[in-house]
Amino acid sequence: MADDATLQTTRTPDDTENGASPNGLTGAPEPNRGKPWYKRLSLTTWIFIALVLGVIAGVALQGAPEIADTYIKPFGTIFLNLIKMIVVPLVLFSIIAGVVSLEDVKKVGAIGGKTVLFYLITTAFAVTLGLIFANVMNVGAGYQLPSGELTYEATEPPSFIDTIVNIFPSNFFQPMADATMLQVIVIAVVFGFGMIAAGKKAKPVIDICNSLSDVCIAIMRGIILVAPFGVFGLICPVIANNGIEVLRPLLWLIVVAYLAMICQIVLVYSGIIKAFARMSPLKFLKGEMPVMGFAFASASSVGTLPINMECTEKMGVSKEVTSFVLPLGATINMDGTAIYQGVCAIFIAQVFGIDLTLGQQFTIVMTAVLASIGTAGVPGSGMIMLAMVLQSVGLPVEGVALVAGVDRILDMMRTTVNVTGDAAVATCVDAMQKRLAARRAKKAAKAA
Ligand code: ASP
Repeated sequence: MADDATLQTTRTPDDTENGASPNGLTGAPEPNRGKPWYKRLSLTTWIFIALVLGVIAGVALQGAPEIADTYIKPFGTIFLNLIKMIVVPLVLFSIIAGVVSLEDVKKVGAIGGKTVLFYLITTAFAVTLGLIFANVMNVGAGYQLPSGELTYEATEPPSFIDTIVNIFPSNFFQPMADATMLQVIVIAVVFGFGMIAAGKKAKPVIDICNSLSDVCIAIMRGIILVAPFGVFGLICPVIANNGIEVLRPLLWLIVVAYLAMICQIVLVYSGIIKAFARMSPLKFLKGEMPVMGFAFASASSVGTLPINMECTEKMGVSKEVTSFVLPLGATINMDGTAIYQGVCAIFIAQVFGIDLTLGQQFTIVMTAVLASIGTAGVPGSGMIMLAMVLQSVGLPVEGVALVAGVDRILDMMRTTVNVTGDAAVATCVDAMQKRLAARRAKKAAKAA
């Protein structure tokens, strides 16, 4: 793995833009002869080995989860802290660098417009898929409501207008300190445009931002190299604390939700990758493997963002697109969360014996799309927003308490879908932009 470090940190962003993938995350071939076996394995393989070992160790420690919490969890926490530390400067500087390199407000608008449209449509698809699976597979079947009283305090969700107002920060530093990604994105875009507008005078600061963006990428690549330890430290305590006894009554819910989520990846993402990016879905999924493994272990879209940027760029997606589309996606595009909300809404309706009309299910689609936009990319936030979806059709909010016990298990998969959806859209938008540029260049050549 030390060799991975050398190769990865010396690679320039341009290499990745050309689709070059010397080794590591995408598992592309590299000269392996003469290396010991553990250096021959790619980082992807290491992440999966760590995931499997973490699960095995977690199962072994189910009788004594405090051991996992005391001695293993800190490694996961340290790793996640390092990622969180780098994610704000990484997003800030790479978006500024991206906006400045686009040098054209129209181009930023075109990428932004396509991205938001893709995000909204895939999320609406996702929640519909969740509703179909939950209805067809009768997700609440066989579940016995516990006899004790259920209580769940729903936190008041912000109104739609507040959500919009909150996108715009009133302070430069606060969003960075709180890692409020949407506000960080707004600051980066505003400063990027400011630099374009200032023209020549902005040259020194543009150079600094470009250089800081490269520094952040180099740091992030270093952190990613120890990802297998982080993955092990994250997954082991989760498995140790979620014994089969907790899972058993809700096993069917987990199966239905997981199937719908896998379907979203296999059908929807593979479909758009084939149709819009004209890329082999297998190549895409292979490139995304480390991202999925890390999202599964960490249950945090924002935490997975640096790895997602790295892997997506390695698949040939340009830096301008990844640096804008992926941070936006990690904040507003939550397809896995939308599926979870759809499945859970039907589950709660069925166990409370409430029939939902088609109209009510349509309301669920609309609110789940909004709720997933408002969901922060951190563990457990989708469950808080579930209350809002339930309220929209008059389902008992206490129902959240029923699914809370297995939330982490559901969160791992929904986060995996969330980040894969971001990468799929980034890949499509990038391919469409490149085709557009090629068409324009052809036209211009003809006209000349
Ligand atoms: N943990 C998810 C994410 O980070 C959000 C959720 O709880 O649904 O994407």
